[in-house]
Amino acid sequence: MEGFCYADESQQWFEHIFAHHLEEARSRAFTLVEEGMLAQTGCIETPTLGARKVRFRGRQMPAYRFIHCILNQVVAGYDDVVRHRCDNRRCVNPDHLDLGSRGENLQDERDFYADGVDFGLL
Ligand SMILES: [Zn+2]
Repeated sequence: MEGFCYADESQQWFEHIFAHHLEEARSRAFTLVEEGMLAQTGCIETPTLGARKVRFRGRQMPAYRFIHCILNQVVAGYDDVVRHRCDNRRCVNPDHLDLGSRGENLQDERDFYADGVDFGLL
């Protein structure tokens, strides 16, 4: 790999996609966003119970991670987590997604559960 030996497998995959399959990846990301439903909150929710998964070029990941990284050309490694600023894991609105560290994400989830959200109602 061209000088990227320090990059983990996830980063190498994104480097490869951006170098060779960017247009295909972008159109897939836009399709995933278009298939979502716009909610009153501004969230664009996938028609799935949990976070939607996407498979692309030999790799599977949550759709929101794919969308954020592809549309912003972010090379995300294992320790980089795409976070929902809206706390809605089904949301794929690119404006609601942000990159953070694993520790920050755990804090988000603790805050979220502390609000007493009942997943049985979703
Ligand atoms: Zn949202």
